[in-house]
Order: sequence, then structure tokens, then C-alpha cells
Amino acid sequence: MALYQHILIAADFSNHTDMVIHRAKALAAANNNTRLSLCHIVEDFPLTDFAYEPMISVDADMRDALLNAGEKQLSLLGEKFGIDTDSQWIEFGSPGRDIVRIAEENNVDLIVVGSHGRKGIKMLLGSTANAILHHASCDVLAVRLKDES
Ligand code: AMP
Repeated sequence: MALYQHILIAADFSNHTDMVIHRAKALAAANNNTRLSLCHIVEDFPLTDFAYEPMISVDADMRDALLNAGEKQLSLLGEKFGIDTDSQWIEFGSPGRDIVRIAEENNVDLIVVGSHGRKGIKMLLGSTANAILHHASCDVLAVRLKDES
């Protein structure tokens, strides 16, 4: 029996995304071509003033536009790597929390993330990878990324 039945890739669309997907695909191939899925979380980025008070949050129209743009990006990645639309999720929320929830709702047994992404360029482990490692109930693979994104 394959070690993993369902691998979820967290894609942030940074330059490192292809490398993370290649690693997940290699693992899937070594595990009897286990199911591979892709997810992306569109984050709310409130604009802040100098006292760091939230001033403007993403409104409904902007949220829909971001979700549509993200859906297109995700489906391009799906086409490129042979992952069909049934196995792609895009949501609005918090990556650290919602990637773990999507994994739980879909019986994922391995989440694959980059060690850092757009937010964690200078860090050993980006904040999203760190949050997922702390909260996931399944295994997590953080693909070590050394180059700047
Ligand atoms: P970061 O915390 O930005 O350094 O990102 C670390 C890793 O978490 C990335 O390489 C992605 O695999 C994943 N990640 C970060 N942000 C997102 C997001 N918005 N949606 C999906 N995955 C993400």
C-alpha cells in the first residue's frame, strides 16, 4: 500500500512554486501515483496607517476579482502539471489556518509547502510553513528553498 493516499500542494504562485510541485509529483510517483491536489489561499491585506491600525480591508468586489485571478493561475498550474480541477481549491482566508482545514476536510495525509515563499524570503522557515507544521494533524513536507523568490 502507498505510504500516502492524498498529497496536497500549497501553491503561493511565487517563483518557487514549480520546484515545490516537482517534489510533490516525484513523491506521488513513488507512491503508486497517489492523488495530488493543489490549493491557494487569497489573503486579506488590510492597508495600515503608521500606527498599524487597519484602514481599508479587501471589499467584496476586490475579493471576487482576486479569487478569479487566483483561480486562473491555479488552473494554469493544474494544466501544466496534470492536476485536474476536481483537485484544486482556492479560498479567501488565512493560509496557515485554511490550508490545514482543507487538508482535514479532504483526507489529505501529506501537505507539501515551500520552506519559504513570498513572505519568508529571508527566513529559514516562512510563517505559513511554520503555522502549517504547528497545526496540521497529518505529515508536512517543507521543501527547502534556497534562492530568493
Ligand atoms: P511563506 O510563509 O510566505 O514564507 O510561505 C511558505 C510556503 O507556504 C510557500 O512556499 C507555499 O508553499 C505556502 N504558502 C504561502 N502562502 C500561501 C498561500 N497564500 N496559498 C497557498 N500556499 C501558500
